[in-house]
Formats: sequence, structure tokens, C-alpha cells
Amino acid sequence: MNDSTSTVLITGASSGIGYELAKLFAKDRHNLVLVARSGSRLAQVADELQRQFAVKAMPVTLDLAVPSAPQSLFDQLGRHGITVDILINNAGYGKFGEFAQLPLEDAVGQIQLNVAALTYLTRLFVGPMLKRDSGKFMNVASTAGFQPGPLMAVYYATKAYIISFSEALANELAETGVTVTCLCPGATNTGFAERAGTNNSRLLKQIGTMEAKTVALAGYRGLMASKTLVIPGLKNRLLMESLRISPRRVVTAVSRKLMDRME
Ligand code: NAP
Repeated sequence: MNDSTSTVLITGASSGIGYELAKLFAKDRHNLVLVARSGSRLAQVADELQRQFAVKAMPVTLDLAVPSAPQSLFDQLGRHGITVDILINNAGYGKFGEFAQLPLEDAVGQIQLNVAALTYLTRLFVGPMLKRDSGKFMNVASTAGFQPGPLMAVYYATKAYIISFSEALANELAETGVTVTCLCPGATNTGFAERAGTNNSRLLKQIGTMEAKTVALAGYRGLMASKTLVIPGLKNRLLMESLRISPRRVVTAVSRKLMDRME
């Protein structure tokens, strides 16, 4: 029997950090709406979580980089009478390469998914949450958002936007029952690097990765504790602290070195 009264909407729930977050919410008996482009994988995840944890899990196959997608998702959930209590804006991607050579569809596509869809969904769901004076947002940024990222300039900039936007919104909503948590993972072992083309980067080879499960758990705990900023892993937290006291030009040069490919 499903006795949960709360529903969590997770974008990018078919793999990686989003999938691990979905498992954590299901384990704690939250119902789920799971969004990604790969319909068959998503249906498989929904089925697995329903069977294992006796929650409701609704798969929604959607390309959130399409400008009309956030509104159509919101409308679809409205038609089903589904109230979203927690929104996890996790779907995102990056692409390696010099900006001048980056295909235009990726330059704009990253902004459309990482920034526009996240902002659009947050704007749509914040109203109903404020009306109920209850709700939670988790926006998945990255440690990439704390510095400029030559060779991945757009991706790093989208993540800087997410951090800035999330901290500002958390401040605006501080006197309400709605909270905003920004999760900033460092390099994490998921399908992200494959899609980004960063498998051979110095960052992955020399600094290493965290497991998606560990990152998701840190995010989940931070969200439940209503923390504004969560950086999983001591090494990542120390690296981010070191950025505060380093000259910006040095930070940018080191960032490029870490992003570059090792032959
Ligand atoms: P991932 O395994 O590639 O997961 C990305 C998820 O987003 C998948 O479920 C993917 O499913 C979905 N997605 C991608 N494009 C989409 C679109 N246009 N519309 C709807 N869904 C889409 O990578 P991940 O590492 O878990 O990434 C999750 C988040 O963590 C991202 O925002 C990423 O920027 C951030 N992050 C990752 C790392 C890292 O090193 N892995 C580090 C810091 C931050 P489909 O492909 O089926 O659509």
C-alpha cells in the first residue's frame, strides 16, 4: 500500500545522480514523477522503484531543451491532479571544446536545458508552493559554477547562473515555508563525461570522481535539512575554498589545465 502524501518531480531521473536521488526518495516513500528523454529506460526505472518501494512512479518522456517543454510538463501534471511538493532540477549536460568551434545547437542547448528549463520550471512551481506555504527545490549546479571554465565555457557559466540564482531565491523565500537547495557536485562517475567528451580530462584522471550514490545522499540530506549550498566531498569543499583566495586569472588558467585532455 502506498501511504505517501508527497510527490517529488525529478528531471534527469533516468541515470546518474537523478536516478540515485529517485531511489532515495522512493526508499523514504515519496511518490515520483520522473522526467528524461529516454522513454524505455525511464519506464524501467519507474517500474523498478514501484515494485521495490511500493510508491507511485510516473515516467514522463520529454526533451526539456525544447523551449515549450516545461510548460507542457506543468500542464500535464495539472491535468493528472498531481501536486509537486519537491522539485529536483537535475537534468543538465556539458560539451567539451573551444567556444568558437562548439556546434551552435550545443552552445544554445546547454543554456536551454541547464538554465532556461530550470528557471521556467522553478517559476511555474514556486507559485503553487507559496500558496501552500510549503515546498522544496533542489537545483543541481556543479563545482564548475565557482570559476570560469575555458574549453567548457558555456557549461561552467550555466552552473554559475544556477548557484547565483539558487542563493538569491533562497534569500527571497527565507520567510516562507519554501526552501531552495543548490547541490554542487565535483566530478562524479556518471554518463556525464561520455556525453561531454571529457573522459580524458586531467580533472577526471588526476583529481578523481565521486560515486553518484554518495553525491545524491549528500544532496538529499542537505535538501531535507534545508541547506542552501551543498558541496559533496571534503576535497571538493577545500578546492572551492582555495578559489576564494586565489587571483582570478590564476584560477582560470588552472581551470583550463584541469579541463584539457591528457594524451
Ligand atoms: P547523466 O548520467 O548524463 O544524467 C543526466 C540526466 O539528464 C539523464 O537522466 C538524462 O536522460 C537527462 N537529460 C539529459 N538531457 C536531457 C534533456 N534535454 N531533457 C530531459 N532530460 C535530459 O549525468 P549526471 O552526472 O547524473 O548529471 C546530472 C546533473 O549533475 C547535471 O545537471 C550535471 O550538470 C550535474 N553535474 C554532474 C557532474 C559529473 O561529473 N557527473 C558534476 C557536477 C554536476 P536522457 O539522456 O534520457 O534524457
